[in-house]
Amino acid sequence: MSNEENKTEYELPDITEKIHCPICKDGIIKINRTIHRLPDGEDILILLMECSNCSYQNRDVITLQTAFKPGQWILNVEDGDLSAKIFRSPEGTISIPEADMEIEPGSHANYMITTIEGILERMIKWAEYFYKSLEDDEDKTIDERRKKVEKTIEILKMCKAGTQKFKVVLTDKTGGSYITTTSKNEKTLVFEEETE
Ligand SMILES: [Zn+2]
Repeated sequence: MSNEENKTEYELPDITEKIHCPICKDGIIKINRTIHRLPDGEDILILLMECSNCSYQNRDVITLQTAFKPGQWILNVEDGDLSAKIFRSPEGTISIPEADMEIEPGSHANYMITTIEGILERMIKWAEYFYKSLEDDEDKTIDERRKKVEKTIEILKMCKAGTQKFKVVLTDKTGGSYITTTSKNEKTLVFEEETE
């Protein structure tokens, strides 16, 4: 952050951890952040992400009223559009309440750059993996647990197919995560700042 324009009241957190490329997995993502003031006075943050190895490039725009503030993003997916992008910091939790599924920040949690479709694919893969691991389990409650996971997988697949309306909830107390969408419908994406 060297130029004049960036010396504003906004405090952007440093991204110190290496972010691996979501496409080639080998490259490291370089993030370039620029703050712009729009003619109507609103400040936006432009993030340009480039891979050091392949041609992957991603450009996100978020308003600075919501950028990097601690809180919760809620995206309502009602029309089967899975193209909204998610940037999750290692501290962020992503959940889909309808499917009773959550991606928690773990000790090896990494930055994640993906779309809603990518989140659903990941969740389906993990739920199926978890389902298989239940087969070796001698626990008496196994049938019940199997049914619960089956239901989760079924709902996630419906979300992916566009036949189920659902919410994606991204919570980050450190403010390092965000969701961006091209939808102009304000009800689609809501940000609630955490105030203490
Ligand atoms: Zn790459």
